[in-house]
Amino acid sequence: MPVTLSDRLSAELSGLRESGLLISPRVLDAPQHARTTVDGREVVNLASNNYLGFANHPALKARAAEYLQKWGVGAGAVRTIAGTLRIHEELEEQIAGFKHTGSALVLHSGFSTNQGVLGGLLKEGDLVVSDELNHASIIDGLRLTKATRKVFKHADPEDLDRVLRENPTEGLIMVVTDGVFSMDGDLAPLDRLVEVARRYGAVTYVDDAHGSGVMGAQGRGTVHHFGFEYADDVIQVGTLSKAWGGVGGYAAGHAGLRQLLINRARPYLFSTAQAPATVGALAAALDEVQRDPTLMERLWANTRYFKAELGRLGFDTFGSVTPITPVIFGEAPAAFEASRRLFDEGIFAVGLGFPTVPRTLARIRNIVTAEHTRDDLDRALAAYEKVGRALGTIGG
Ligand SMILES: *Cc1c(COP(=O)(O)O)cnc(C)c1O
Repeated sequence: MPVTLSDRLSAELSGLRESGLLISPRVLDAPQHARTTVDGREVVNLASNNYLGFANHPALKARAAEYLQKWGVGAGAVRTIAGTLRIHEELEEQIAGFKHTGSALVLHSGFSTNQGVLGGLLKEGDLVVSDELNHASIIDGLRLTKATRKVFKHADPEDLDRVLRENPTEGLIMVVTDGVFSMDGDLAPLDRLVEVARRYGAVTYVDDAHGSGVMGAQGRGTVHHFGFEYADDVIQVGTLSKAWGGVGGYAAGHAGLRQLLINRARPYLFSTAQAPATVGALAAALDEVQRDPTLMERLWANTRYFKAELGRLGFDTFGSVTPITPVIFGEAPAAFEASRRLFDEGIFAVGLGFPTVPRTLARIRNIVTAEHTRDDLDRALAAYEKVGRALGTIGG
């Protein structure tokens, strides 16, 4: 007798429940803001990726509404058949201009961008070398290729050099890294990684999901921060769903990249084009970050303040240098308990444990945004102090 669906569901769910890994998301009862209502409770929100406050920014909402009225609710087809609207092409030109690259293509999400670009570009006989802490969507994207796959130690140019030396290849060689790592908030040492990659004739592929809109002048990203934006041997991919406030992904780089991806990226070929309102919001986001320098200034002032004050209280923020601010609690139950207690104090910040992060480095991941006021951050810090003392994470 085959397994029934009911048996499968109850066996899997009870397995997850017993190992403490069963997820049930909290629900926002109000729009995504630095202060919002979650499960009926008013909170300071340190859990979003809404770095610039764009998810509910008036200029983005206005452009989204304008595009919705003019172009409708849906694109009506995949891009290659009849779904490419003029506004899709305009957004791509805007992104290529902003990123200083020869071309850019927009996809449906950061996740599908990694599937589409890695799956579309790499072939049998190629070599791809990936940072061990790269995002799940990169790992899944690489599963779609017949290229030889190797891993190098996190942010370690010497180990990258070793892997490249030990695996000589006639095909395309690609080094893949996140720009900003989503759990630790550290930066890929791109200056040194690109230098090593170039010695072996390799292309460097940077997933800048947490760096675009955060790093570099006017939020142009981590590749810009390190000065590689014009380089034809650097591919930038990322999401339009975090700092940019909407949903989508992009790939930008070499002038020929866009054309090849149009022909080879399967999410592009087989999934309906982005909705006009989303395209409008994203076009406005790129304008707004260049028009209003206070967005980036507030993001970084808040980041510096929050990190410094947490450090002063005695918390370990794990050397993070970006708005992603982990606070380490040890084992997973301690981090989850701290998250629950913070929520009771009106602070929404999510605990993360194994296997998302190493077993003894369970943490709460805080993300500071441009929207937080000093008062929001002070309330969060007071709650951290109270909870940290009660749990013995900090002294006093
Ligand atoms: C969030 C994230 C993605 C996925 O982006 P979505 O647009 O949410 O699908 C991809 N890569 C990295 C590194 C991410 O942090």
